[in-house]
Amino acid sequence: MQIDIITALPGLIEGFFAHSIVKRAREGGKVSVNIIDLRDYGIGKSRQIDDYAFGGGAGMVMMIEPLVNCIEDLKSKADYDEIIYMTPDGDVFDQRTANKLSLSGNIMIICGHYKGIDERVREKYITKEISIGDYVLSGGEIPAAVITDAIIRLIPGAMNDETSALTDSFQDSLLAPPVYTRPAEYKGLKVPEILLSGNFKKIEDWRTEKAIERTKERRPDLWKKTL
Ligand code: SAH
Repeated sequence: MQIDIITALPGLIEGFFAHSIVKRAREGGKVSVNIIDLRDYGIGKSRQIDDYAFGGGAGMVMMIEPLVNCIEDLKSKADYDEIIYMTPDGDVFDQRTANKLSLSGNIMIICGHYKGIDERVREKYITKEISIGDYVLSGGEIPAAVITDAIIRLIPGAMNDETSALTDSFQDSLLAPPVYTRPAEYKGLKVPEILLSGNFKKIEDWRTEKAIERTKERRPDLWKKTL
C-alpha cells in the first residue's frame, strides 16, 4: 500500500511518520508513505500556490493549477483507489472508515490550507472528503496524519501483536476495558484479582463486562447502536 500526502508544509508531518508503529510499518515494507511538497508544483519564480478568493473576503485559496499538476503527476506514476481531501465539511472519520481504507490499494491525501482549495479540484478529482471532527484546524496536515496513523496500524504486520488492533475501542462498537501491568500491587493499589487468576475464559468475560459497563457510562450513544 502506498499513501501519498500532498502538502504545502512537508516539514510539519515528516517527523510524525518517523516514529513507532508507522515507522516500523514503513521499514518493514508494509506501506510506503510519501510526502509531496506542493511548492514543487507552484507557479512562477515564487512558486505560488495560493491566491485571493474571487468575490472578495478574507483569506487565500489554494490554486487549481499547482494542485492539478501535482495530482496528474502522481497519477501518471501510480493508480489510486481514493483521492482524499481533508476538510471540516467532509464525512466525519471513524473506525469503520479506517478499517475500509486499510484494505484499499494506494491512496492520495490532499492537505488544505488558508480558506481551503479551489472547489473545481474537489469536483474533478476528489473521491472522498474526510473531516476529523467538528472544529477547524489551520491545515490538513494533522488530519492527514491522524487518518494515516489509524489506517497503518490496521495493516497486518504493522503492529507487534496483530490481534491487538482488533481489541481496541470501537472495533466492536464497545470501548476498550481497563488494562493493567506489573506490579500487581503498588502502594496499596491492587490489580483486579481475576486478571491474575490465569483463567482465560473468566478474564475474557470480565473484560467484556467492563467494556460494556464503560461504554454504557461514557458513550451511551455507542451503546444504543450496539443494541
Ligand atoms: N474555510 C474552511 C476551513 C479551512 S481550514 C471551512 O470553513 O470549511 C484549512 C484547511 O485545514 C482545510 O482546507 C483542511 O484541509 C484542514 N482542516 C481544518 N479543519 C479540519 C478538520 N476538522 N478535518 C479535516 N481537515 C481539516
